[in-house]
Amino acid sequence: MEGGKKRVDTRSAEAFARAKKVIPGGVNSPVRAFKSVGLTPVYMERGAGSRVYDIDGNAYIDYVASWGPLIMGHAHPEVIEAIRNTAEKGTSFGAPTELETLMAELVCERVPSVDVVRMVNSGTEATMSALRLARGYTKRSKIMKFEGSYHGHADSLLIKAGSGVATLGLPDSPGVPEHVASHTITVPYNDIESAKLAFEKFGEEIACVIVEPVAGNMGVVPPLPGFLEGLRELTSHYGSLLIFDEVMTGFRVGYNCAQGLYGVTPDLTCFGKVIGGGLPVGAYGGKREIMEMIAPAGPIYQAGTLSGNPLAMAAGYTTLKLLTPETYELLERQAVKLQLGFEANAEKHGVPSTINRVGSMVCPFFTEQTVNNYESAKTSDLDRFRKYFAAMLDLGVSIAPSQFEGMFVSAVHSDADIEETIAAHDAALGRL
Ligand code: PMP
Repeated sequence: MEGGKKRVDTRSAEAFARAKKVIPGGVNSPVRAFKSVGLTPVYMERGAGSRVYDIDGNAYIDYVASWGPLIMGHAHPEVIEAIRNTAEKGTSFGAPTELETLMAELVCERVPSVDVVRMVNSGTEATMSALRLARGYTKRSKIMKFEGSYHGHADSLLIKAGSGVATLGLPDSPGVPEHVASHTITVPYNDIESAKLAFEKFGEEIACVIVEPVAGNMGVVPPLPGFLEGLRELTSHYGSLLIFDEVMTGFRVGYNCAQGLYGVTPDLTCFGKVIGGGLPVGAYGGKREIMEMIAPAGPIYQAGTLSGNPLAMAAGYTTLKLLTPETYELLERQAVKLQLGFEANAEKHGVPSTINRVGSMVCPFFTEQTVNNYESAKTSDLDRFRKYFAAMLDLGVSIAPSQFEGMFVSAVHSDADIEETIAAHDAALGRL
């Protein structure tokens, strides 16, 4: 803790005990419960810039960033002002507003593969809706996804999933009917040969391939050269759609998202997190010909009472406007410093380590193996991770309570924040 104070969690423990009586597992999203790290979850009170403050009065440099959205930091003054100004005029109308068009225009401008975009309320809604669209458009049922990737909790996508499912070591979820699961083909990430074999067998039945262009739910795993390009070729050859799930990477890894970074053009793209600037937003978009199959332009149904909500649009639009190409250069610089600092620390302490990074997504794994898929991510020493996580928290750095999630550097992490974080990492490795 700052100034060597011991971290207390009395109030968080009380809050958690109370919550467990009325909320399943005490939380509204599983990984927040800190179950896999065996600690009391930290109840947050407020955030400002790069810091968060919990209800016991502890302060942390934050790299969770609400699991990605807060690329401009907590309570950015311009984002808050936009929300406030919008709220004063009413919070929801269930009628179109001009703000929605402004937002759509901005997304279409930044992401060249997107001609038309539909706003929804979460990443899960975005991927679920994109799947329905792909199936409706191609008139095929099967989908392909990758082991250890997470695309939200829709039935078809909860097969061999990453994120919380991987963190909690859960088998494929009960409640997903066998006949639904049987339409999902899973292959290892970065393994284009396996994808090819699956296409040779099922090609004419595959509606789409959904892929995280940088896998962010098994830690951080960059695509190997040729992997995304190979998927593009395969899907085009077999008449399937290529869906990039950019819920995490969208507007995070580059000004034009991961597709801009890698120069591969999907048919459809899913967004979430950054696009909502900290409010509940998701979106899916792509080629006009495909997107105009959605109601009311076409027959494929998808709707939402709060979709395009004015407050959410205001927060998202303002956040996207704050993001310039220079912001991404700054993010890259800070994240590289973090990576190099961590690598030097690991060497100093002789701790087996592989640090993966793409842009501002950074993930230290406790393994010496190259991590390029879920199998290799799982070679990370999870017991070590648990101890490291607890130490970092005590040292005043908030990271996701899971080895299978990355750290998100934000544009408001100062040089001092980065140095303090590297020093905390050094001290944490010293305690392992
Ligand atoms: N896709 C990806 C790549 C994600 O990382 C996530 C969430 N971590 C989702 C989809 C689901 O988004 P949400 O939690 O907003 O439903």
